[in-house]
Amino acid sequence: MKKIIVIVAMIITLIALTSGMVYAGTNIAQSDINEGLKFCEAYPVSLALDGQKIAFSQKDVPPVIIKEKTLIPARALFEKMGGKVTWQNDTQTVHVAYDNTEVVLTIGSDKALVNGKTETLDVPALIIDNDGDYYGSTMIPVRFTAEALGCGVAWQDSTRSVLISSPAKVDIPVVDSNTGNNNQNNNTNNNTNSNPNSNITWQFEQLNEAAKGKIVAIDMGHGGHDSGSIGHKGQPDQLNEKDVNLPIGLRLNEYLKSAGVSTYMIRESDVYYTLLERAQKANDAGATIFISVHNNSSETSAAHGTEVLYNSKINADGKSEMDLYGIQSKDIAKNVESEMVQSLGTLERGIKNSPEMAVLNKTTMPAIIVEGAFLSNESELSMMRKDDYADKYALGVAKGIVKSLNEAYK
Ligand SMILES: [Zn+2]
Repeated sequence: MKKIIVIVAMIITLIALTSGMVYAGTNIAQSDINEGLKFCEAYPVSLALDGQKIAFSQKDVPPVIIKEKTLIPARALFEKMGGKVTWQNDTQTVHVAYDNTEVVLTIGSDKALVNGKTETLDVPALIIDNDGDYYGSTMIPVRFTAEALGCGVAWQDSTRSVLISSPAKVDIPVVDSNTGNNNQNNNTNNNTNSNPNSNITWQFEQLNEAAKGKIVAIDMGHGGHDSGSIGHKGQPDQLNEKDVNLPIGLRLNEYLKSAGVSTYMIRESDVYYTLLERAQKANDAGATIFISVHNNSSETSAAHGTEVLYNSKINADGKSEMDLYGIQSKDIAKNVESEMVQSLGTLERGIKNSPEMAVLNKTTMPAIIVEGAFLSNESELSMMRKDDYADKYALGVAKGIVKSLNEAYK
């Protein structure tokens, strides 16, 4: 019996050594792996799917960060999501299938296939043995794989957790805005007036007493696997719209709260929601104003400036926004546009009635989409890279919102 164990151990050692050689070809050294294991033993990383913590089995290697990428045991997460994970020994490949997408990762290779299309990885899938028992776990890069399958992926530093949101099942047309219990979001955020530690003192127009308690829902466009518009696509300094929008929304939340406005955050991290989910969340939160933070893009690099989209709604009973809320999106759009161009120094492209936009027509309350500047324009792209862009953008919107609330509620 002992002999057999020794032989098995030797064979596995051999496999481990062979895969060790493969890592060399992908600039991951054994020392990188050891370092990651040591660090994550001291500071464990956990993983949650739609708000629920994923438990790994005893024999699995727990999540490990190697060269800033988190690798996780292949099965636990994706099988829980309802996907299928298979291992093919002859090709040394892990196959992760979900819905109509299949991701194929080869141990030690920086090339992965997503539905047959080759993509490059920073850190490959690896077989990692953390405790020297020669029982290795197949570890795959979680962000790459999850995003390829349409999940949202975010890192929460306070809890050292990778937060995964499963792909939203979009059943587009029928949404009853009054019932709409969206089963995907029951366990996610309920963020009205969260984050009390705002370090901003509002030194601008004071909010009227009569406007207090009206909720402004803040939506940052795109997120997760949806990058939005892309500036300098494929170049080393590529900039994704979602990464520009996120800090703006967070800043806007701080400004509005410091001005005494109640807010509701549709999202606070790099996760994805469908347009309908965003609208539904605002409806459920009972918001009075919905604002979506975006930046623009055009086929011509010449296009530049700021524009705000709105939708003059009339509901099924013939009631206007004014009838229902005492405030209307067109006025909010005007105020936000004029404060934005002052704050950013951009061209005033004006406001546009855009009833075709989902977040404008699926929300019940007055709603606007702000398009701050163009990622397709060189000078505006450099403006967006500057540290003060988010601040100026957020301040412009906040001033426009306070002004609109004050005009409406006296
Ligand atoms: Zn956008």
